[in-house]
Amino acid sequence: MTNILVYVPVPAASPSKSQRELLTLAARLGEVSVVLGTSPDAIADEEARAGLSAWGASGFYSADATNGLVAPDAALLAAAAKESGATLILLPNDIQGREVAARAGVKLDAGVITDAIDIDVDLVVSKSVLAGSYTVRVKATRGPALVTVKPNSVQLPAQEPAAVAAAPLRVLEPGESGAVATVTGSEARTASGRPELTEARFVVAGGRGVDGDFGPVEDLADALGAAIGASRAATDAGWIDHGAQVGQTGKTVSPQLYISAGISGAIQQKAGMQSSTYIVAVNKDPDAPVFEIADLGIVGDLATVLPQAAAEIRRRKG
Ligand SMILES: Cc1cc2nc3c(=O)[nH]c(=O)nc-3n(C[C@H](O)[C@H](O)[C@H](O)COP(=O)(O)OP(=O)(O)OC[C@H]3O[C@@H](n4cnc5c(N)ncnc54)[C@H](O)[C@@H]3O)c2cc1C
Repeated sequence: MTNILVYVPVPAASPSKSQRELLTLAARLGEVSVVLGTSPDAIADEEARAGLSAWGASGFYSADATNGLVAPDAALLAAAAKESGATLILLPNDIQGREVAARAGVKLDAGVITDAIDIDVDLVVSKSVLAGSYTVRVKATRGPALVTVKPNSVQLPAQEPAAVAAAPLRVLEPGESGAVATVTGSEARTASGRPELTEARFVVAGGRGVDGDFGPVEDLADALGAAIGASRAATDAGWIDHGAQVGQTGKTVSPQLYISAGISGAIQQKAGMQSSTYIVAVNKDPDAPVFEIADLGIVGDLATVLPQAAAEIRRRKG
């Protein structure tokens, strides 16, 4: 039986969608244990462990809480890998997941594979490369493979699993984690009520074409239940928070639907959204490069098109 570890930095009473996807993929391939993050807000309480156990976790590893960011988590992951004899370690494909994978990879002298979209029973990983233009199949040649998996890559079961009791927890002493950065203070971000950009099924993104007014983009996003994205031109102009930037130097998203409004489609923007399942582009310039990758292109003024789309969606939702 293949032993698999899944890294869950911050467990909650009910696992997030990307955590459920990692657990679903892992459970398809072998026996699953979860390695819990060591940050003080990673509350590994019984309720959180029961939620993760329902999705297939048969054991947990944790260590004493620290505020040392990623280094202690990487040390714990490496210790758990040695303890469990895991041959595969799954992590989220976000900045933290990739950094923990890289650090643990060095400690374990193991291969790291990022941007995975699937893994087969022989632990051959499918991953998207060159801004989503190609899918390649790769395999780590030594150590337990550390694989970061893109959100929205795994089909979740139609039905929620039945509730179960929390699987057992083992507290490890990972030892020296190396130089650590320390968190000296933090401020919670105001919740927008919209889905998290990198996990969202639908994204509506605005660019320089919104001309300072994200109102139509926000209205369509709210009609759809979508997250809001933006081009760098829009975030650099200060029209929207930098956290919304999609692209080479922003976030990578792979939603089922990406609506691009007033964005020309520069290569650096495409790098972050090209692997979206269905791309709709709204641009008043019929020659805009974004139309080359759009499944549906609408030539028009976004200030006219987006409100009509939002009104029609609301009408159909009743
Ligand atoms: C190293 C590097 C990294 C970068 N990283 C990123 C990145 O991560 N993400 C990113 O997005 N960019 C990135 N860029 C910048 C990128 O090259 C482009 O400059 C940027 O994406 C352009 O943003 P835009 O499409 O919103 O603006 P523009 O290119 O100015 O396009 C605006 C578009 O809006 C259309 N438009 C105008 N008015 C309307 C209207 N009323 N209705 C409909 N359409 C309208 C225009 O026809 C035009 O196509 C990077 C650049 C570099 C050099």
